[in-house]
Amino acid sequence: METRTEISSLGEFGLIKRINKGIKTQLPDTIKGIGDDAAVIDSGEEYGLLTSDLLLEGVHFDLTFFPLKHLGYKAIAVNVSDIAAMNGIPRQVTVSLALSNRFSVEAVDELYAGMKAACTDFNVDLVGGDTSSSRSGLLISVSVYGKVKKDKITYRNTAKPNDLLCVTGDLGGAYLGLQLLEREKQVFLANPEMQPELEGKDYVIQRQLRPEARMDVVYELAEAGVLPTAMIDVSDGLASDLLHICAQSGVGAVVFEERLPIDEQTFLAASELNIGPVTAALNGGEDYELLFTVPQASYELIRNNPKISFIGYITDKKDEVVLHTKADSRVPITAQGWN
Ligand code: ADP
Ligand code: MG
Repeated sequence: METRTEISSLGEFGLIKRINKGIKTQLPDTIKGIGDDAAVIDSGEEYGLLTSDLLLEGVHFDLTFFPLKHLGYKAIAVNVSDIAAMNGIPRQVTVSLALSNRFSVEAVDELYAGMKAACTDFNVDLVGGDTSSSRSGLLISVSVYGKVKKDKITYRNTAKPNDLLCVTGDLGGAYLGLQLLEREKQVFLANPEMQPELEGKDYVIQRQLRPEARMDVVYELAEAGVLPTAMIDVSDGLASDLLHICAQSGVGAVVFEERLPIDEQTFLAASELNIGPVTAALNGGEDYELLFTVPQASYELIRNNPKISFIGYITDKKDEVVLHTKADSRVPITAQGWN
């Protein structure tokens, strides 16, 4: 009998690991294949960077509360974020769509209005793609090509003991924004007369619906003369993404709970929804901030940048990734992708 293994028994990361095992790259210009935020290709003077992401209706977005224009923007931004995580500059994008007959030409116009806005903001050209019909729902696949100077690339596997652990912006907002939108959707379905209660929640909603890629910080680090030792973008949650850096670098980390950057609105939404704000910050995901490590000597050069929080440090204790709580205890940080 043939064996059948459920994908859920491996989980997302286990599945990618298994795929990776079966793939050997053979070209001399393939510098880095599976395993980082983008593939790295030797293009002569510089490295080329290539990354793609898939957005599926019903899995990654719900069109009952996701405006198509924002969705278009987000589709580009989340891909640019992976280029930022390599310390690269995005250049060209391709966009592939599968559309069911539920979508009108005007709907596609809206989607592209958002994509064009993102292309303008991140200074990239939309240069191609593919279009297909779909039996059900909307599928968006975006690929981005970027580039980086060879000596400026930042991988996930090069964090060093005693490096400082830094994160941009704030965490947990996108996840709580989604929880609020889902709650309002349920209220609306139960009683369409009800008006959504989202006043004073604009920031967390925006974190979910219109995330930014932190290209601004990539440029600011370069201006400050700081080259991170390792970097990843926070797409699955700080915990999960820090574990990637630590596992791949063969190091451990200590994160101070009191140093986690959490916005006022995130605290308010968390208490309203009865979700721990620290849990949201650690495991929420979709914040698309940059998590990076720098040598201690870089501290003086960036400590005054209000976009950067110093949340902990790297240790030589392989795979020991812990949260130093406000109560002065240490608890292991664990994480999962989707299962
Ligand atoms: P990110 O969250 O930064 O987009 P992912 O966790 O999606 O990264 O992917 C991790 C790595 O696995 C990347 O190098 C990505 O290109 C690779 N990867 C993901 N899915 C597949 C797949 N189906 N086949 C080959 N490589 C994949
Ligand atoms: Mg990434």
